[in-house]
Amino acid sequence: MFGSKYKLYIDGKWVNSNSGQTFSSLNPAKPKQVLGRFQKGNENDVEKAVEAAEKAFDSWSDITAPKRGLILLKVAELLKKNKEKLAKLVTREMGKVIAEARGDVQEAIDMAEYIAGEGRRLFGHTTPSELRNKMCMTIRMPVGIFGLITPWNFPLAVPAWKIFPALICGNTIVFKPSSDTPLCATKMVEILGMAGLPKGVVNLVTGPGGSVGMSIVKHRKIRGISFTGSKFTGETIVKEAGLKKVGLEMGGKNGIIVMDDANLVLASDGVIWGGYGTTGQRCTAASRVIVHEKIKEKFEMMLVQRIKKLRLGDGLKSTTDVGPLVNKAAQEKSMNYVEIGLRDGAKILIGGRIPKMKGFFFEPTLFTNCTIDMRIAQEEIFGPIVSLIPVKDFDEAIDAMNSVEYGLSSAIYTEDIRKAFLAIQHIEAGLTYVNSSTIGSEVHLPFGGVKHTGHAREAGIEGINEFSETKTVYVDYSGRLQKAQIDIT
Ligand code: NAD
Repeated sequence: MFGSKYKLYIDGKWVNSNSGQTFSSLNPAKPKQVLGRFQKGNENDVEKAVEAAEKAFDSWSDITAPKRGLILLKVAELLKKNKEKLAKLVTREMGKVIAEARGDVQEAIDMAEYIAGEGRRLFGHTTPSELRNKMCMTIRMPVGIFGLITPWNFPLAVPAWKIFPALICGNTIVFKPSSDTPLCATKMVEILGMAGLPKGVVNLVTGPGGSVGMSIVKHRKIRGISFTGSKFTGETIVKEAGLKKVGLEMGGKNGIIVMDDANLVLASDGVIWGGYGTTGQRCTAASRVIVHEKIKEKFEMMLVQRIKKLRLGDGLKSTTDVGPLVNKAAQEKSMNYVEIGLRDGAKILIGGRIPKMKGFFFEPTLFTNCTIDMRIAQEEIFGPIVSLIPVKDFDEAIDAMNSVEYGLSSAIYTEDIRKAFLAIQHIEAGLTYVNSSTIGSEVHLPFGGVKHTGHAREAGIEGINEFSETKTVYVDYSGRLQKAQIDIT
């Protein structure tokens, strides 16, 4: 089963790239295990995918949204039927432990069901006109052909967050997944085909970001780009996309504030889950813990005891708490940041090494005595490394939280309702959790960040806004010429 050759999906057919080249997807827990060989697509493949998406657009957007939703319900059924198989695939391809991988599939199922329902609620507004016998309203229109570019860390959920809303709004799609998780993407597209999606509506082109991704970003017939990935790539995309509608979901440097009145057991649960879940490779991972100095030492001891017990291993084993990093470069990056942290004067309480294991593992690491200007407290590491930043009071905690360029997720642990509400008001982030970790989004609520995390909002009704245009409609049934702003009596 492993090592098979997979193809691009263009105009409803599985085809080879005319590049004649392939690349492999590896299991990061067992890097010698090749999961499959994938087409190294190129500009010509993108061209063909755009042609197919263009051909399919009129008939797809002409199907009513509730009927488009019925296909998504079939997708949800197929995802459910294959949930365990898909979860194992997620674990094999990017390393997250099996329980979290099941969550990835479940998020795609939830999204399909939720968005199918939105097909019956693609609301516009009606509002009174300033003139008599005239009606004003807004309706939603598809954008056109959408280019979807996704990362590897939620290999089914992130594509689902983009593909399903784009489809319900009547768009057609050219989809380029991360080259670390092409197999999950291929399975998602297979399921869309099995659910009866007409040919050309979704097209899959695997291959490098610099060529396939960039050809999508620059293509003049593509009207919208929805990108999730690093800030570095997002900045390049924005420069090259021209006048397209562009949605960016980028990195984070998320923090958890732990006040002196917090329930420390609850807070340590939150830090362990937020900091080391998915091996720290979530955009919402808690990589900073801003801790009140009065409880700092006690909290450090509690965390170290918990971290000692975390078991590294293959995510498919039920005994594993923390899986590998996605690839060798990620492992080297974590090691590099440990060295940077030490050089900048932070102290390691536990971890900090590459263990002697076959996969791309890294020890769950806790730094303390960090200051907000240190690079480990500012830059996205995307590994199991958490920096503890001591503060003397609530105001300093909020300043520390807001001291980074990113603004995705945040959390505060406190029993003081006043502080909780002040934190909700003053933290610069797209998400704030009270007495809960930085992760745990639900699909019917909007998700996204502020500052350099980007400005897109996915999921919830805001997710529909990302993938539709609003048209304003005036219907004058007065039977005469009425002039807004001029006929004022
Ligand atoms: P990445 O930026 O390296 O790659 C993301 C996608 O962009 C991949 O498909 C890649 O091939 C493509 N790409 C790369 N260069 C490109 C180019 N020049 N033009 C067009 N496409 C290009 O990110 P990654 O390593 O796959 O993912 C990790 C990053 O994603 C982290 O920064 C993480 O915080 C972020 N992320 C953000 C969210 C969010 O919702 N905010 C969610 C998940 C991940």
